Amino acid sequence: MDCLFCSIIKGEIPSTKVYEDEQVYAFKDINPMAPVHVLIIPKTHLSSINDVTEENSAVIAHIYAVAAKLAKALGISESGYRVVSNCGADAGQTVFHLHFHLLGGKKLNVEMG
Ligand code: 5GP
Ligand code: ZN
Repeated sequence: MDCLFCSIIKGEIPSTKVYEDEQVYAFKDINPMAPVHVLIIPKTHLSSINDVTEENSAVIAHIYAVAAKLAKALGISESGYRVVSNCGADAGQTVFHLHFHLLGGKKLNVEMG
């Protein structure tokens, strides 16, 4: 399967790694929208939140635990941050490998829709 983020996980496409374990990979967004902009992705390919089921959802909880750990390590846990996943066209999803944006380090736009 031809997937940009699967290629990044395999190291076929370079990325700036922030964190990795057996379940997830986290790396700097190539086009940062905030001083801290990290993408956290499951190593198992899921296209979007639409692919999350009761059977595979444990990784999502783990991603949030990693987000909290990275926020602390990157110095934004107290100032605040946002974790967001875009699903589909109306949300502006452009890469169809499930990913969670970790954004912080500035006052973020409050727009939610
Ligand atoms: P989406 O719009 O699907 O929610 O987010 C996709 C994100 O992936 C965007 O913020 C975009 O900047 C980032 N991105 C796209 N291609 C690459 C890449 O090759 N490397 C990295 N590090 N980020 C990428
Ligand atoms: Zn993938």
